[in-house]
Amino acid sequence: MKFFSVARRFLPEFGLLLCGIGLGVGLAYMIAHAIRLQEGRAELKAYAQLLVEAGDELGVENNQAIDAVTHDNLPFCSEQEIAFMRDYVFHSPHIRDIGRTKGGMLYCSAGLGKLAQPKATSAPDIATGGLKLNLRAQSLISANTTWFVVEKYGVMLILNPEAIQNFIEPPKYFSGFLFDRLSQSLKQTFGPAIPLTVDEVAEGEPIERNGILYQPLCSQTSMVCQVAAESREDVLAGGGYLFTGFPIGGALLGIALAWIAILYYHRHRSMEHQLRRAIRNGTLTIAYQPVVNLDTGTIVGAEALVRWVDRSGKTVKPDIFVSIAEEGGYVSDITRLVLRKAINEMADLLAAGNFKITLNITAEDLRDRRTFDLLEQCMRSAGLSPACIGLELTERSTSDQAVAIRAISDLRLAGHRVYIDDFGTGYSSLSYLHRLSVDAIKIDQSFTQTVGTGAVTATVVPLILKMAYELGLMVVVEGIETSEQAEYFRKAGAGLLGQGYLYGKPVSAAQMKWLVLDRDRFN
Ligand code: C2E
Ligand code: MG
Ligand code: MG
Repeated sequence: MKFFSVARRFLPEFGLLLCGIGLGVGLAYMIAHAIRLQEGRAELKAYAQLLVEAGDELGVENNQAIDAVTHDNLPFCSEQEIAFMRDYVFHSPHIRDIGRTKGGMLYCSAGLGKLAQPKATSAPDIATGGLKLNLRAQSLISANTTWFVVEKYGVMLILNPEAIQNFIEPPKYFSGFLFDRLSQSLKQTFGPAIPLTVDEVAEGEPIERNGILYQPLCSQTSMVCQVAAESREDVLAGGGYLFTGFPIGGALLGIALAWIAILYYHRHRSMEHQLRRAIRNGTLTIAYQPVVNLDTGTIVGAEALVRWVDRSGKTVKPDIFVSIAEEGGYVSDITRLVLRKAINEMADLLAAGNFKITLNITAEDLRDRRTFDLLEQCMRSAGLSPACIGLELTERSTSDQAVAIRAISDLRLAGHRVYIDDFGTGYSSLSYLHRLSVDAIKIDQSFTQTVGTGAVTATVVPLILKMAYELGLMVVVEGIETSEQAEYFRKAGAGLLGQGYLYGKPVSAAQMKWLVLDRDRFN
């Protein structure tokens, strides 16, 4: 029983750890896979290069042999010529035999000597530019073996098949070709058939087909083309070191990330516990930020902003804990606490007139009747007019249009003013907001701060003001920090309201009352 309750308690941590390890290993495996394929392609290219060089070398050696025999100045198939050819074969690593032909008949060779009866040579598999190639010639030297035969200018070279065979490096293998650039045709000289077109071989780009990686490469100086090949499976099997090292590293990284996530989760959970307790105990406080008439600079009201100091004495930003409460589905508890406290603290100032406050509400409040019922109840018992309490909601919280329209209409019918907060940061247009039938917009501080900077967003401000004017919406400019910004909006339109550090930071209820008293003393 105890084991299960412990296991259940740490289930989220286990989950995060497993996810972290799974993600880390998965990601590392994918990276190792990609690296190994890249390596495999590079190795295949180097192999193709080696094959082309070997093919070129063999070609040069063959030409030299043909050249030597045609220029030996010895009588055709004479004893001297046969001896000369024997000597050449003896010193050549690739040539097994050299023979002399005339009119498609073999008359003599280094190995066979002078033939009593000339033998017919077999028809060439490839004939190009005076060069004849016989890829599997039989019965020239012995009947059981097939030979690679090159013939040119009446000289026949019988090549050692191992000369080519030796270049196979399992699991890599290759197919050899002669590429006739004039006729754009490709004649295979060696290896298994490959599923590539002539163009694909000539282009020399790596290609993967049916699980096999091919790397074609053609010589710059001869007709030789080679296509190196290796199966993807074999390429990946060659990356053993990557596939053990990387996933271990990935698992460690996954554990480290999961550890950070667990710490964050614990912090979030402990914050949530503390926040719920603070709401229950009513220890959240309210700060009031003055709202002024920009033409005169006099305070006309204030925005109520919730404040929370956690157990360690640290002030937590409202953006953070309000969204925690939103996620937890209990943000309306904060709204109700704020409205109760704010009406309580400000009742006398509000009752005296010439002063209004605004409260921030959320999408959840628009759906939850209890918030509005409490608002009406508090107003009634404090003997206040609904006109002195405005409600701010962001564009985001009006995404459920039907709910928003109904709630806004109810609030306005009850006599409250409704403001759209942080205007300009959402995606909705002014006309959409007009459809919602609000009283005012609060232009977001990000726009205010661009005034006079030449930023693109600054050019939008006059348009917003113009449209707000045409739609009969009241405007509050948020985040005014400098006298230049204040001056800009003063000139931009009459009757605008403003809020920002230039006029006052959020202060306690008592300080706010002093500010209003000051206002009334000097007016
Ligand atoms: P908001 O409703 O747009 O509130 C204005 C924020 O801008 C406040 O931050 C205020 O202190 C800050 N501010 C005012 N003048 C200036 C200025 O000149 N320069 C700069 N840089 N900032 C300025 P705060 O108090 O941190 O509140 C942040 C957000 O938290 C509020 O944005 C609002 O969305 C939310 N919030 C605050 N109180 C409540 C509440 O009671 N209920 C709900 N649902 N949300 C609240
Ligand atoms: Mg606000
Ligand atoms: Mg705002």
